[in-house]
Amino acid sequence: MCYGVMKKFHLSEEEMNQLAERYETPFLVASAAQVEDNYRFLRQHMPHVGIYYAMKANPTPQLLERVAGLGSCFDVASAGEMVQLQALGVAGSRMIYANPVKDRRGLRTAAELGVRRMTFDDASEIAKMAQYVPGADVLVRIAVRNNKALVDLNTKFGAPVEQAIPLLQQAKAAGLNPIGICFHVGSQSLSTAAYEEALLLSHGLFQQAAEAGMHLTDLDIGGGFPVPSREGLDVDVAGMLHTIDRAVARLFPDTAVWCEPGRFMCGNAMNLVTTVIGTKERQGKPWYILDEGVYGALSGIIFDHWSYPLHCFGHGARQQATFAGPSCDGIDVLYRDVTVPRQHIGDHVLITEIGSYSTVSATRFNGFGLAPVLIWEEQPEAAKRQEQESQPVAQEEVV
Ligand SMILES: *Cc1c(COP(=O)(O)O)cnc(C)c1O
Repeated sequence: MCYGVMKKFHLSEEEMNQLAERYETPFLVASAAQVEDNYRFLRQHMPHVGIYYAMKANPTPQLLERVAGLGSCFDVASAGEMVQLQALGVAGSRMIYANPVKDRRGLRTAAELGVRRMTFDDASEIAKMAQYVPGADVLVRIAVRNNKALVDLNTKFGAPVEQAIPLLQQAKAAGLNPIGICFHVGSQSLSTAAYEEALLLSHGLFQQAAEAGMHLTDLDIGGGFPVPSREGLDVDVAGMLHTIDRAVARLFPDTAVWCEPGRFMCGNAMNLVTTVIGTKERQGKPWYILDEGVYGALSGIIFDHWSYPLHCFGHGARQQATFAGPSCDGIDVLYRDVTVPRQHIGDHVLITEIGSYSTVSATRFNGFGLAPVLIWEEQPEAAKRQEQESQPVAQEEVV
């Protein structure tokens, strides 16, 4: 079987410099076409599983529009996310309110916009849901084990498995409509087994529910699908998705099964262009200060435990260097002891695979503005690249 390698959006040095002539750095460039590729990749390799894009990873309007246009549904966590989608014309029936603990504003907005599906993981949530959205379709979130995820989501979220059926029964008694089970194996999961175990566990719960007189119809397998990174996390994502899909088809032939990919959808679809604004030498090694840092679009270094591929240009001698952000805080260090060509004030530096959990947690600390997001396909460089790629490759001269 041919799985194909995932492409990723990566500006060339020339494209980066041309963009930097028109726009002041720092700025991000997002490729809607790459996000579409990622969506299609999931559809192709996991045909039995529907898609609810977890928009918290990257809610750039043009990307949401592209994904919505492809027929995607959405995982939302707040009134703000629901309202943003509604403004783009996405109906409440295409959203799941997948925040296990919901606030009043969120519940009121869900009722207004027709978001009738929601998740919960504790009995204290039942009366709230029943009050604001009577008869809502509810899924109980269970805690699952996975020590191969970068971000653990099962300490804060998920009911103990043995509470799942009693919780669904209590929900039913309160007039809610118990429809299924959900789980999240943790973000950037490198383990297929974690999904397979969670699927088996859920299968058992579906049987127990049937014995208790509840016919469950829906299973939500969460997100967690990894962004294959240059850093050599050599995961065969296609193979992983195939294995999950086969288990879904075998265990849940008559169930509506969907996933909630966040990171996977946009991780490789955005680049950051930044500039060296200062240099210093410490212990014989250079430090480069960039115009974007951990309080801005590189916030994922802190919040998301992430390290992004860094691309420096120029032909100077290569040496070990440290890169830091522009703020007046000592925590604002981005890369330590990376070997790069000598950089100078004014040089542009490219950071790739920064599409998920980056801009969303950026702050205005120290009065620096938020870096704007440009859409690659709206830039003349994109048309130029397409033209070049469609030209026949020049024949190599054979001597
Ligand atoms: C954050 C989140 C997701 C997305 O997770 P990724 O690991 O980014 O795919 C999906 N579902 C829920 C409920 C989440 O909170």
